[in-house]
Order: sequence, then C-alpha cells, then structure tokens
Amino acid sequence: MTGDAPAGVPVDPAVPWDIRSVLVDAAVAGSAMAGRVRRTLPGVPFTVLEHPGALADALPGGPEADRTGGRVLHLAAHRGRFLRPCPGARSYRCCGYRIVHIGEGCPMDCTYCILKAYLRSDILRAFANTADMFAELGDIFGRDRTRRFRVGTGEFADSLALEPVTGHTLELLHFLRDFDNVVVELKSKTADLSWMAANPRPDRVLAAWSVNAPAVVAAQERGAPPLSARLAAAREAARAGFGVCLHFDPVVPHPGWEEGYAATVDMIASFLRPRDIVYISLGSLRFLPELPARLAAMGRLPDYYLSEFVDDLDGKRRLLRPLRVRQLRHVAGLLAKCGLAGKLYLCMESDEVWRAVFGRAPQGPDGLARRLMELAFEKRREGP
Ligand code: SF4
Repeated sequence: MTGDAPAGVPVDPAVPWDIRSVLVDAAVAGSAMAGRVRRTLPGVPFTVLEHPGALADALPGGPEADRTGGRVLHLAAHRGRFLRPCPGARSYRCCGYRIVHIGEGCPMDCTYCILKAYLRSDILRAFANTADMFAELGDIFGRDRTRRFRVGTGEFADSLALEPVTGHTLELLHFLRDFDNVVVELKSKTADLSWMAANPRPDRVLAAWSVNAPAVVAAQERGAPPLSARLAAAREAARAGFGVCLHFDPVVPHPGWEEGYAATVDMIASFLRPRDIVYISLGSLRFLPELPARLAAMGRLPDYYLSEFVDDLDGKRRLLRPLRVRQLRHVAGLLAKCGLAGKLYLCMESDEVWRAVFGRAPQGPDGLARRLMELAFEKRREGP
C-alpha cells in the first residue's frame, strides 16, 4: 500500500509510502531497525548522518521545505523520554493514557491532522534506539508489577503506518511479553496486522482504528485505506482474540453528517459484535490555530474550517459547544442503539459537555482513567 505521491512523481508500488531517501543517525546506523529498513527498501539511498546538524545539510531547503521527490525517512536516536503522559488539558476529563514515543510524522495526509501543525515537517521519523527505549520502559514497568499501565504508540504517529518498513511494533510487542501489567493500544488507519506475528497475549494488546463518516474518509484522509479495509482488519483482530477499540476523532461537521455517521455505525455493526469492542472514543473537531492557514497555502482548506470555533484553554480552537454537543450526542446515540452505551467516552471534554452528551460525568478526577483501565484489562474470551 502506498500513500499519494507528490504531483509528477511516479509511484513505485514496491516502495512503501513512496519513501525515496533514508537518513540514519550515526548512533543507530548499526541498529536492528536500520538493518530491516535496508532490507525492505533495497533501492533507496541510505545516508548516515555523522552529527545532528547533518540532517539539515542532507535535506535541500531544510526540514520544513516542501519536498516533491518522495518522502524522507529519518531513523533517529531519540534522546528524550520514551514514556510520556498524554497531553490532555487540566480542565478536561483525561483518559490517563501514556504515550510510548516511537516516532513522529505520518505518511497519510488527513486535513484535520494535529501533527501538521505540531511537527512543521513532513519527514517521517522512527526512533531506532529501541534498546534505550526498552531500558527506560523496563525500569518503569518492572518497578512494581502490581501497578497497571495503559499505553499506546499512536499519538505523534500512526502506530502501524511504517510497520512494514521498520518492524517497530513487532519489536515492542516482543519486549512487552514480559510485562503482564501493561496493555498496549495500537492505533492506526491502516489494515496492517503483521504485528500479530509477535504472538502477544491477546488480552494485552488493543487493536484500535480511527473511523469517520464516509465523506470525511473519502475527501479528508488522503492516502488512508477505506473504512471497509480498517473494519475488516478489526474483525480479523477480534477473531484472533484481540480487543478492538474505535476512535471517532474528530467528528467533523459536513453536509449530511447525521446520515454519514449513521452509515459508519451501521458498517461497524456489520463487521463487529459489541463484545469485540473494548471502548470507543468520541472527539470533537479541534486544531491548532495555525493549521487552516497552512492548509490554505497548500490550496487544501476544507469547508469544515469555515464553521464557528472558540479558542480554548489548551491553545486549540474548538467547534462552538452547541454544534459540538449535537454531533457528539448524535454519534453516541447511534452507538448506544448497537449496545455500546457502556463503552463510550469523550476525548478531552469538560464535565459540562459530558453531562450534555451522556447525562452524567465520570466520578472523581481520575474516574475516566480508572474506567478505561478496567475495560483495557478486562478478561476477554479468546478466539472467535
Ligand atoms: S492517519 Fe492520523 S497521524 Fe496520519 S495524517 Fe491522518 S490523522 Fe494524522
């Protein structure tokens, strides 16, 4: 599967995501991941960066320039922390999820993607110093084996988009087999299930997909597989005994959105049984203020950015509350009719919005995080 190529550049179907150049920090040039990438992309030039400044020299126009000659994959030695709290604002209900930081950037191209404004670069970055990552994670997860963790890799990247090239998740799942106190959520828009080859405990991996209304998938998620492919992969994961999570995030206002989200919920019900699903998040449209101008400069500003927004406490712009509540309530109502009412939560919303959508808010400051932890670790029946 490949993403859309920049205009005028022929796509080679043998090269995932049209990656035309690999840059490798010298510190990880001999890593297992670098070896896998070399084998997967045999014809792609591989440049070792001898010092940090060499990245800019290796990229004509610098890291922020628009590139028309295919994508760049940077195998980096990450020097910061690998385990981070999810960046939820204090005034919103936080789900208590921890991020395992495996890389940055995504080869798909969604017009609502928050990474476009966060990262300011279209370079795909994978952190190849996995030994450092496992040392840090092992220290934290192993300190008290009765303490449970719900972690995920899909925050600054799609969890699995680069998996066919890097094998990152396979490595992570092999490592996590020693930690019964950790559930990892793999959040993706791809249909990649190659991670199953690590043979992880099915009740310690949550296979998660982002879903949206058909018109949003078709027009706003360039390079992403269709909904049917995602749900077929979800069904296969469920049949193998893995819990499935779904994320309606963001719910986008667009002409016919009521019918669109109803069609998606019908499709979910045709692929998955309620017991296959562990939880479903609903998130309203929100973005960093600079994103619309960037999209406009690329000639890709969708109409939904012309809705009315409010500047919120976390520096993002959000849909005005009345439409936000109407949309979230509509999607929640559709899912409740499928027997999923007990598995829904709102991503980064206040108690007021929770009450307006569900008639109640989570109990106590960490009520939502506790509930999701329970659902994540709940004993599930294995197999079909
Ligand atoms: S798939 Fe996710 S990470 Fe990738 S561009 Fe779309 S929203 Fe962003």
